[in-house]
Amino acid sequence: MRIFFVLLELGENGFLSSKKFMRYNVAQLLKESTGQIRQHTLHEDISQLDPDITPLTTLDGNAQMIRTADGVLVMAKLHTSLELTCVRCLEKFSLPLKFELEEEFRPTIDIVTGATLPITDNDEAATRIDEHHELDLSEVVRQDLLLNIPQKPICRSKCLGLCPNCGKNRNEGLCDCKHDEIDPRWQALAELLNKDKE
Ligand SMILES: [Zn+2]
Ligand SMILES: [Zn+2]
Repeated sequence: MRIFFVLLELGENGFLSSKKFMRYNVAQLLKESTGQIRQHTLHEDISQLDPDITPLTTLDGNAQMIRTADGVLVMAKLHTSLELTCVRCLEKFSLPLKFELEEEFRPTIDIVTGATLPITDNDEAATRIDEHHELDLSEVVRQDLLLNIPQKPICRSKCLGLCPNCGKNRNEGLCDCKHDEIDPRWQALAELLNKDKE
């Protein structure tokens, strides 16, 4: 009866830890030899990840965690779709994003001796395995997503933008205003030139 109770508790803990947001317990992997691998499938709700990220779908993909001499190397292939606002026509649109992640995480505590490990200069907080031997992917994913969002998102390469005179979305048809139109093929160049002036 007692044994049964203990097993039940362990099972419940395992369940709880697997539900933690992008956190993985790598205690077992750290005890194994270099080159050992764990595979994980990601299917994550990232709506609370960052105020500047508006996901339209979950974050999906897979992650390989490989035991290295110093820690755990994470190699992941991920994809999601974000909602962005076009800088030309100001309409919202969906941008599918695919990205790869490669980060080595280092333990803060030696798995065998329990000793606290020194922090080196190139250790970043985001890639530290915490004292519970948990590795948190959320911060590196957040940083990578932000890096992958274009600075000046456009809904399509030939977006005609808004008429500077009447504000009409020229993708939906031309307005009656008379002015010197910038050929959309030159628009990208014009934007670059403007950027230089900033
Ligand atoms: Zn647009
Ligand atoms: Zn107009």
